[in-house]
Amino acid sequence: MKKPIKRAAAVTSGAIAIILSIAAIGVWGQTKAEQPKTVRLYVFDLGKLTNNNPAQYRFQKDELAVTDLAVAGYLIVHPRGTLIWDTGVVPDSQVGSGARGANRAGKRTLKDQLAEIGYAPKDINFLGLSHYHFDHTGNANEFQDSTWLVRQEERDAMFAEKQPPGVSVLTQYNLLKDSKTVILDKDEYDVFGDGTVILKAAVGHTPGHQVLMVKLAKFGPVILAGDLYHYREERELRDRTPTFEFNSEQTIASREKIEAYAKKIGAQLWIEHDLTHTESLKKSPEYYE
Ligand SMILES: [Zn+2]
Repeated sequence: MKKPIKRAAAVTSGAIAIILSIAAIGVWGQTKAEQPKTVRLYVFDLGKLTNNNPAQYRFQKDELAVTDLAVAGYLIVHPRGTLIWDTGVVPDSQVGSGARGANRAGKRTLKDQLAEIGYAPKDINFLGLSHYHFDHTGNANEFQDSTWLVRQEERDAMFAEKQPPGVSVLTQYNLLKDSKTVILDKDEYDVFGDGTVILKAAVGHTPGHQVLMVKLAKFGPVILAGDLYHYREERELRDRTPTFEFNSEQTIASREKIEAYAKKIGAQLWIEHDLTHTESLKKSPEYYE
């Protein structure tokens, strides 16, 4: 009786070793990422919105250097956890599918770009969205297991009986309704408790629009400005707001507030849709630190 038991034990430990090595490699064949000692910011290329008619932003075509809009996503990796910020325009499942609008996607899916640096959506601790419009929530449902950081007025609009404007018919964020959620009710929310990753209210574009400040040790502070602006030219014309704002007066006040904040802390303000700027940024797997 003893010999078969030993053989069975040997098989079991071999199987455990295989399982452990598969777990270490991860689902996507990448080694799991380790938490770094300082904050990192990764930028993902998630496509482009073609815009030949900037009238909805109250601009003539010849007033803007570039009319097309970049679409990017961002991962903040902090020693205490991870935060994904904005999730693209085309759901990963539709990238390369030929579906209507799928041509706006980047060359690679968000999931693929995350996997390259050792993350799966389920590994991401926090989800932050600048706002609920379709071009920021493409893959929001992928992060239903993350803790969602959202302002009450934004969440209320997202799940109101009447679907808010700027949302595609098939919403990509419906699963967030059941996510673990932190409701943000103050001007600032310090995500990891050490002042390096701060969500700041910048309402107006939508009821609970927000921006994200990331304090990078070497690069310095950066504000990911969501849709506080769409074009760099708007920074000099702050009272010229898009035609589709939830509340233009709020947007103008938020622009003044965030500009003053950027100046005070010496932060770069990154307009997420600024195509020239976004194309100039290092893309994941490279990162800012
Ligand atoms: Zn947008």
